[in-house]
Amino acid sequence: MTGGTQTITEHVDVLIVGAGISGIGGACHMTTQHPERSVLIVDALDSFGGTWWTHRYPGVRSDSDLFTFGYKFKPWRKAPIASADEILHYMRETIDEHDLASRIRYNHRVNSASWSTDARKWTVDITRTDTDESVQVTANFVYMCQGYYKHRQGYTPQWDGFADFKGEVLHPQEWPEDVDLAGKRVVVIGSGATAATLIPNIAYDCAHVTMLQRSPTFFFVGANRNELADELRAAGRPDDEIHELVRAQIVEQHDMVAKASVEYPDMVRQMLVQAVTDVLPEGFDVDKHFNPTYRPWQQRIALVPDGDLFQAIKAGQASVVTDHIDHFTETGIVLKSGDTLETDVVITATGFDLSVMGDIAFTVDDQPIDFASTVTYRGIMFTGVPNLAYVFGYFRSSWTLRADLISGFVCRLLTFMSERGCTMVVPELRPEEAGMERLDWVEADNFNPGYLARSMHRMPRQGPEDPWRLRHDYTSEKDILPNADLEDGSLVFK
Ligand SMILES: Cc1cc2nc3c(=O)[nH]c(=O)nc-3n(C[C@H](O)[C@H](O)[C@H](O)COP(=O)(O)OP(=O)(O)OC[C@H]3O[C@@H](n4cnc5c(N)ncnc54)[C@H](O)[C@@H]3O)c2cc1C
Repeated sequence: MTGGTQTITEHVDVLIVGAGISGIGGACHMTTQHPERSVLIVDALDSFGGTWWTHRYPGVRSDSDLFTFGYKFKPWRKAPIASADEILHYMRETIDEHDLASRIRYNHRVNSASWSTDARKWTVDITRTDTDESVQVTANFVYMCQGYYKHRQGYTPQWDGFADFKGEVLHPQEWPEDVDLAGKRVVVIGSGATAATLIPNIAYDCAHVTMLQRSPTFFFVGANRNELADELRAAGRPDDEIHELVRAQIVEQHDMVAKASVEYPDMVRQMLVQAVTDVLPEGFDVDKHFNPTYRPWQQRIALVPDGDLFQAIKAGQASVVTDHIDHFTETGIVLKSGDTLETDVVITATGFDLSVMGDIAFTVDDQPIDFASTVTYRGIMFTGVPNLAYVFGYFRSSWTLRADLISGFVCRLLTFMSERGCTMVVPELRPEEAGMERLDWVEADNFNPGYLARSMHRMPRQGPEDPWRLRHDYTSEKDILPNADLEDGSLVFK
């Protein structure tokens, strides 16, 4: 039926929202550890992959290695930095190996979710994006794996005169199939991982590409290979052993860099900047364009495989301008310095629009939930919101490291509840915590990309201590989360 409002209702034990890397991983954990439970995954898109299905710009790839961005339980067998296609292939294999295909409903956008304490279940209202049908699912537990940004469109600032620009405007998140950049002058606005990936992948197809950034970004430069993995493969070691050992090594290396970035920031800065200098042309103003003001590791540092971005600069196909946009004209951009960039195409690699909880309207016993007035339990659950968990991964280490840990935690929580005969769990501040300091979801001096800074006031709050803290550290959480005391009074079971 099309355009209708027929409502089909079904009940499941666990409803997973999102078929990205987190949701598919969550379903694997859930179906392996709780084969007796019914699990359904819904996604608004028409296939699995989330980020890796949405983003189709030239060269789209991971910026962290797949040994840690991949799942703990499924070995990664290729080069560490992977293309979107390789990640989708890995996810397809995961879906097949765990027999998940029949549990996933695509084109299902969740609009609202209402918890009833009397009925002890969520009622979730969904619209089919392909047929416009209404679908209702009831669930004992909702596992939010919906990521952190709106997939429908990216974020584009409204610069003065932008509407006057007569050239082509592209956003990497909404990349059309038929883009032809041959012979064109291109300006990419932004210098994050997306810009760094896109530029070397279009530089040789267009006349010239300019990376226009307000401020510089740190990058790692390195070969897209992992020596330990290569050695172990050559020695004929099994894939799962290689995966485990390489993962452990990468986690340890990241930990060392993270610690050194706090203890010896100048040394780490010098190391990063030197590596970039080595691949740039002689006399390039590295300090101006690639020596950020922020401390190393305050943001995830993208690996530029084989220095391809810098090679494109060296080849004269790409250049960097560090300046602020004053306004657009019909033919280009006037910068605050007074310089002008004439261009045919503008690519706005300017980031995401934050989506708080998938833009779903939540109610608990008919009361609307404003997530900004909740406090998070370990960055996973929220005070006053029963039977719901959320995956927010690491942003400096691989996202999936945390997604795996959270799925393990949720499975343990569900086991604990069934052993105790409980059907409801809700985080609540203990009496002595009533006046507890409430902090932003992410501390600004810790990590503060634009999409979070713009919308922090809409995100849940955290406290200064466990279990109300959102830690950003795999090394501590890998021990804390699997052992977290479920009976310390911060989770109320009914
Ligand atoms: C180009 C790019 C490269 C990146 N590279 C890395 C990297 O190398 N390492 C790293 O750690 N991180 C990287 N990230 C961050 C990345 O987004 C996350 O690491 C990870 O992919 C998030 O996975 P996810 O499954 O949690 O969310 P997503 O990939 O965002 O998937 C969420 C899914 O939920 C669905 N959804 C959302 N709301 C609803 C709703 N209301 N109803 C139904 N479905 C809904 C969406 O349609 C989507 O399919 C990258 C991001 C981008 C954009």
